[in-house]
Amino acid sequence: MLPSGAPTARVAVRRHRERGQYDRHTIRAILDEALLCHVGVVSAAGHPVVLPFVHAWAGDHLYLHGARANHVLREAAAGSEVCVTVTLLDGLVLARSVMHHSANYRSVVVLGRAREVTGPEEKLTALRLIVEHVAPGRSADARPPSDEELRATMVVSVPLTEASAKVRTGPPLDDEADLSLPVWAGVLPVGMATGTPVAADGLAPGLPVPDYVSAYGRPGRRPPQESP
Ligand SMILES: Cc1cc2nc3c(=O)[nH]c(=O)nc-3n(C[C@H](O)[C@H](O)[C@H](O)COP(=O)(O)OP(=O)(O)OC[C@H]3O[C@@H](n4cnc5c(N)ncnc54)[C@H](O)[C@@H]3O)c2cc1C
Repeated sequence: MLPSGAPTARVAVRRHRERGQYDRHTIRAILDEALLCHVGVVSAAGHPVVLPFVHAWAGDHLYLHGARANHVLREAAAGSEVCVTVTLLDGLVLARSVMHHSANYRSVVVLGRAREVTGPEEKLTALRLIVEHVAPGRSADARPPSDEELRATMVVSVPLTEASAKVRTGPPLDDEADLSLPVWAGVLPVGMATGTPVAADGLAPGLPVPDYVSAYGRPGRRPPQESP
């Protein structure tokens, strides 16, 4: 983001620019709802690689974690630029004409140079935020990481200063001439659903399923869209 509040040229949405959004609130709400992200770097061998990760954010930074040997994190920590994307698919948009089919979605692209988080306090906070991002409440229940586990884990932080959101909502946009075609058109809402929890073998007896598991949901999920 430039001091004027405008996006940098690299993240300015050009196609359907009216769908581009750059405000902190929109970008962070999409990052919160998305369970996972995809992180792309150009590897040391010179080819692009994109891997899925779990993320969390705080303030103006996105946190990622993984094993010290993870090659995406190692490239990122060594100063390579990363591209982080998340996508929430909200609906399939079925138009009367093939060419006007689309999707309702909210997605984010973040570009930037990461830094390795080495301060023990920030590292622990980042790991707690990542656990809480997956299952809010979980970090109060599960055993915290040992020193050895912390040493084996790399945490990197990516600035959220160069980021864009792109959001499509609404019905299909058919050409006027196609509106009378005898073809059903509309939106099929899509969302993430969880199933029935499956307990691990050997659980201590009498442990109830925590509320954050039985009533799992992503924050900020919008109500299902009405088909037009
Ligand atoms: C939903 C989800 C969330 C995840 N979250 C995290 C996270 O937060 N932190 C984390 O460290 N890891 C996470 N992973 C696993 C991660 O994607 C990598 O597989 C793992 O970190 C190993 O990375 P590496 O560089 O050591 O892999 P390597 O085994 O060294 O990678 C070598 C090659 O293996 C292939 N490869 C590696 N991973 C994958 C993959 N996931 N799918 C397909 N091919 C692959 C690629 O071709 C890659 O270039 C997640 C995976 C999923 C599916």
